[in-house]
Parts: sequence; structure tokens; C-alpha cells
Amino acid sequence: MNNLKQYEAWFITGSQHLYGEETLRQVADHSREIAQALDQGLRIPVKIVFKPIVTTPDEIYHLIQEANTSGSCIGIITWMHTFSPAKMWIRGLQILQKPLLHLHTQYNRDIPWSEIDMDFMNLNQSAHGDREFGFIASRMQIKRKVVVGYWKDEKVSAQINRWARAACGWHDWQGARFVRFGDNMRQVAVTEGDKVEAELRLGYSVNTHGVGDLVNAINEVSDKQIDLLCEEYADNYTLATTLQKGKSQYASLQEAAKIETGLHSFLKEGNYKGFTDTFEDLHGLKQLPGIASQRLMAKGYGFGAEGDWKTAALVRAMKVMATGLPGGNSFMEDYTYHFEPGNEMVLGAHMLEICESIADGKPSCEIHPLGIGGKEDPVRLVFNVATGPALNASIVDMGNHFRLLVNEVEAIKPPHPLPKLPVARVLWKPYPDMQTGCTAWILAGGAHHTCFSQNISSECLEDFATMAGLEFVLIDKKTDLRQLKNELRWNVVCK
Ligand code: MN
Repeated sequence: MNNLKQYEAWFITGSQHLYGEETLRQVADHSREIAQALDQGLRIPVKIVFKPIVTTPDEIYHLIQEANTSGSCIGIITWMHTFSPAKMWIRGLQILQKPLLHLHTQYNRDIPWSEIDMDFMNLNQSAHGDREFGFIASRMQIKRKVVVGYWKDEKVSAQINRWARAACGWHDWQGARFVRFGDNMRQVAVTEGDKVEAELRLGYSVNTHGVGDLVNAINEVSDKQIDLLCEEYADNYTLATTLQKGKSQYASLQEAAKIETGLHSFLKEGNYKGFTDTFEDLHGLKQLPGIASQRLMAKGYGFGAEGDWKTAALVRAMKVMATGLPGGNSFMEDYTYHFEPGNEMVLGAHMLEICESIADGKPSCEIHPLGIGGKEDPVRLVFNVATGPALNASIVDMGNHFRLLVNEVEAIKPPHPLPKLPVARVLWKPYPDMQTGCTAWILAGGAHHTCFSQNISSECLEDFATMAGLEFVLIDKKTDLRQLKNELRWNVVCK
């Protein structure tokens, strides 16, 4: 996965000429110091780049124009150290195409009680300077994140970090290509959606290839490549005895390695950031890609099963947002329930395709029959998932807009071994509780496919939704069903 330090957030400070050169010089010094401190802090994954103070409509317009076309700028951070009459910002904000964070901070933390005079007051007036900027942004209905607090405060850099990560995910979507092998699973509703609208609103394209094109790529894989990958499997995983070299099902492991290598080269060749497949369209493939999908996700590709391109794109974006963080992100499906009173939980899994980035310990590499698809037994990685706070995120097409639904959950240790379950799996308890969480999810029309994340916060996804113009619905510890029903109603009205 990419290093996010290749990306920049531009730190732009607004002012005006009224104060004279000396004040503007101090404004610039202070802004540079803040930008550098945020840049050098360990928390924020992108570069924070100080930009010269803007004091006229033309300067603002040209700087925002430059930000729009910069390939490395993922967003802008604005701050009004002094007063910056906001009509100056209209033309610039009208053309702004990058995410905006409005940092409402102040150079000094404390009021210098014994020293304060009118010079100090004129220099340090973001308390009202930022209100002026906030007004014009609201009047123009500019989507943005507002972060309030002293710039050295951990909470402030933590919020900027989440926004910057979301902006990297958004940046990654722009111009991204996703490939679908085959169409949607027949008759399934929630995995469908408007791909034209997605490209218009969300910036990524989804196009199909007949599975035969993939088969061709797989057939070009050499024996040497297959041997190397089989060795890698043996090094990284606990191989089932029958899959070991010279044993009865080694040929199946070789076939899985061939599929993974071919699929990977197809994705690289087409510059794709993710893919979907479907067990209903596997002509010429001997196995449904199992371990291939699992390992390609771990390499950073998005994946959605049964033609689910929206989840594939979401998995990719969340993997970009999570770059460098401990923990992982995976395609997931709510599979089956445990309804024991007081100990309710969800078992999440898929037929095969759970990303090993969320594995707890060394996965085992196994082969088992697959009840559907009519193909040979597929090789897959089997593992449990680390416990702790996590969330499920789902993106659905409501017909006239896309909705991003998030449920915070607690992943728990399986209370018993699952010796006969031949797939990777995770158990979680949804917040605020099983009944409310599942009711809210179903009322909001959330999909059975999700991205399960151990390291992306709901705040980060809320920022992402703001940037992408997605409706954002959160189910967390505070969710109240009556309030949620109203929210869903109001969201439709306000659309
Ligand atoms: Mn599925």
C-alpha cells in the first residue's frame, strides 16, 4: 500500500491588508510554525504544507485553483488568524474541488492577562475571524470538517489525522478503476447500483470483463511462478497435510497459486484497484478464487463478492485510509446469529473471501468443498480474528443517492472452537445492543456485505461521507431507534 506521505494537505491562512506589513509577517510566522508542528507530529499521515498568507480574492482564487489541479494535494486546511472578510473567499470557494478542513484554533493557548493590549487583540482574533469564514462556508453550503481547539492539543491533531486519512481515501477513488468479472449474482438487489452515478459522484469507474479474459491471464502463468507462490504459501501458512508438496491435493494448491498469479497480473496490467467476481460466472476457472481474493485484499486491492462493486470500492478506500495503522480491513458478511439471551452475537464470514489483514495469528491454508458454483474444491485461508473495537461499513444505492451506513461493534473471542467451520470468521457484538443494532441496520437498508474494520473510526468515515456527498448513518452506543427513524425520514426530505 502507498505511503501517505506522498500526499499533501495545504495549510492556508486568510487575512487582509488592513493590519499592515508587521502584523502580516507575524501571521505568516505563526502559521508556518503551526503547519510545521502538525507536519512533524507523528500522528498525521500526510505532509502539512504551509502556503503564503492570502489577503485578496485573487490570491485565494488562484491558490484554490492550484490546489484543485495538484496531483498530490488531498485537501486544504484553512485558518483565519486575523479577520479575513469572507466575501474575498466566495470565488475561491466556488471552485474548490478538494476536501476542506476549517481549523478553528489560536496561536496562543492562554490569554496573557497582564500583557494583553489592543495590538495583541488585533493579531489574535480567530475567535471572530473564523466565524466570518464559517458564515460564508455555510451560506455557500460548502461541505467541510470543522476542528476546534488549541493546535498543540492531541485531540486536534487526532481529528486532523482522521480527516486526512479520509481525504486520502477520497483522493484514491478519483479516477480509480475497478473490474467486474461477470455481472451481479442473479436477482440480488443490494449489490446492484448505478455505476454511472457512482462515477459522476464518487470518481471511480466500474467496468466488466468476461471471465474468459481472466482465464487467458491465468493460462499465461508459468510453472515457475506457480512453484514460487506454492512455496510462499507453505512459508506463510499452516498448510493442510493433503495440500503439501507430493501429497494428494497438491495439484489444487498449484491451481490456486495459478489463479492468484493470473488475477494479480490482470489487475496490475489494467491498473485496477479492486475487483468483483461471482460464483455464477466462472467458465474456464477451476476454482472460485478463494485464497487469491484473500491475499489480494491483503495487498491493498478492494474486493466484493457476487458482483458487489460498491463494497469492493469501499474496501479499497478503507485500506488506503488505514495505511500504516495496526489492524486490518476486510470484505465481510453478516452470516449467522447467536441469540442466547444476554450473550447475543453475530458470526461474520464469507464463503471464502476474508482478508488475512484481520487474522489473529497464522492462518491455516485448507481445502474443502464449496456447496455452490459447481467447481473444484477451492483453497482458502482459515483463521479467527483479533478481538477489540471494530466496525462494519456498508454503502448502498437508495435510488436517488448513496448511503454509507456504519455500525460500531466489539469483536469477541469465539466462546468455543469451531472445528468444522472451513472459513475465516469473526464474532462480534453490535452496539448499542444486538436488537437495536440489527433493527437499525435493517431499517436503514444496510447490505449483508460490508467492510469490517479494526482501525478506521466512524468519525473518519463520517468525514469521508462528507467529502463524497454520501448520506451518513451511524449506529453506535448512543443509537436510539426512534431518533434513528426520524433521522432516516429527515435525511430523505433534506436530500
Ligand atoms: Mn456474499
